[in-house]
Amino acid sequence: MQYEATIGLETHVMQKTNTKMFCACKYEYGAEPNTHVCPVCLGYPGALPVMNEKAIELCCKAGLLLGCEINPYSKWDRKNYFYPDMAKNYQITQADQPLCLGGQLTVDVDGEMKTFTIERIHQEENAAKNTHVAGASLVDYNRAGTALMEIVSNPCMHSAEDALAYMTAVKQIMQYGGISNCDQEKGQMRSDVNVSVRPVGQKELGAKVEIKNMNSFAFIKEAIEYEIDRQTALLESGGTVDQETRGYDPDRGETFTQRTKENAHDYRYFPEPDLMPVKIPAEQIEQWRSELPELPAQRRVRYVQELGLPEYDAGVLTADMATSDWFEQAMRHTKNAKAVSNFIMGEMMRLLSEQNCSISESNVTPEKLAGIVALIDAKTISTGAGKQVFEIIFNDGGDPKAIVEERGMAQVSDDSALEGWADEAIANNPKPVEEYKAGNPASINFLMGQVMKASRGKANPGAVMQMLKQKLDR
Ligand SMILES: [Zn+2]
Repeated sequence: MQYEATIGLETHVMQKTNTKMFCACKYEYGAEPNTHVCPVCLGYPGALPVMNEKAIELCCKAGLLLGCEINPYSKWDRKNYFYPDMAKNYQITQADQPLCLGGQLTVDVDGEMKTFTIERIHQEENAAKNTHVAGASLVDYNRAGTALMEIVSNPCMHSAEDALAYMTAVKQIMQYGGISNCDQEKGQMRSDVNVSVRPVGQKELGAKVEIKNMNSFAFIKEAIEYEIDRQTALLESGGTVDQETRGYDPDRGETFTQRTKENAHDYRYFPEPDLMPVKIPAEQIEQWRSELPELPAQRRVRYVQELGLPEYDAGVLTADMATSDWFEQAMRHTKNAKAVSNFIMGEMMRLLSEQNCSISESNVTPEKLAGIVALIDAKTISTGAGKQVFEIIFNDGGDPKAIVEERGMAQVSDDSALEGWADEAIANNPKPVEEYKAGNPASINFLMGQVMKASRGKANPGAVMQMLKQKLDR
């Protein structure tokens, strides 16, 4: 029998707000634990929540960017549970009336365009951060109550590759949209992954296994692959899959049972009595729509159509917003998009990964790269010398023109110097000269190499070739 997997994702994204969702406490990653807290986010009895308007705006903009309908009326609910990461013993969330409904995302999965659908996006508050040390658990409430939204996909994916492509696209859109930095190492983007397996042709989905709270894309991929294999093997051997919550152990590369799945009614959802429902007028939604930025997919089309870049380049440049913005800044100082793109995809990415830093920290600024490209385009330096200048600036800083002058890197196009080297190469190498004259055009390359060597790489190759041809064809 053939089996197929079905995957749905619940992606939690921490929004870029200055203060928490229902109180005025600041959110600051890495701050001294339990210093950004107040009676509201510590759950003191009688403390009243106040809604963060900016968070609502960001959640709705995220919805618009993902093609959702904005719900004109949404409301708040309490999700009750007992755990130290939520001091008031319930989380304020949205159960039956979320801010955003529907939505879809079309992404490239290994060369095939696929559309994945989104069920809803709701606004909620984050839990505190627990750290488990030997013999104790520590709780940092700085994160408790920060603005968190949950993007719930439909169970519409069928492989780890689908899930990865979807999450990568969501992350890009959130970053471009200014919704969230989605810094996974800081826990700003975490996903719960639902995986089930059923025989091909069966209508209803198989028992759902949820793998909770993962932030690494690589681990998510491994966990999905492991889970599909595990469930398929169980079914093939005549067993059944239990509906449960599992964790993923990256060291062993396997998932393990955490708890049998609680149902929604275990949380005893009920309307939050301390907050008014959210009503959003149509004009407000249109105002937000008009403020939406250009998305990576739109930038890719523009790079190809207006700047004439290959699709591949456009994809690499827009994969990350910082790189794409950097590229756009460079394009304010030059018209040669392909040269800028080549430098970013080549020298820049190589050096950044070698030194493990980000493009915004590079000594080579967009303006400096445009300066290097201008020197190459003016034939002042060769492309090879341009790469050297790039690396010098990357490592030690400096100005392209000044470096070329100080180090004598300018190409020699001066006829008398070139002529001297050409004559010498012809006089010293009678054999290739003879071969060339006998009708073997490739032999000129050897002579060319001799001239470049004599000039220590500074001769302008085009001018050398022309000079040699003139002399030999005479
Ligand atoms: Zn607070």
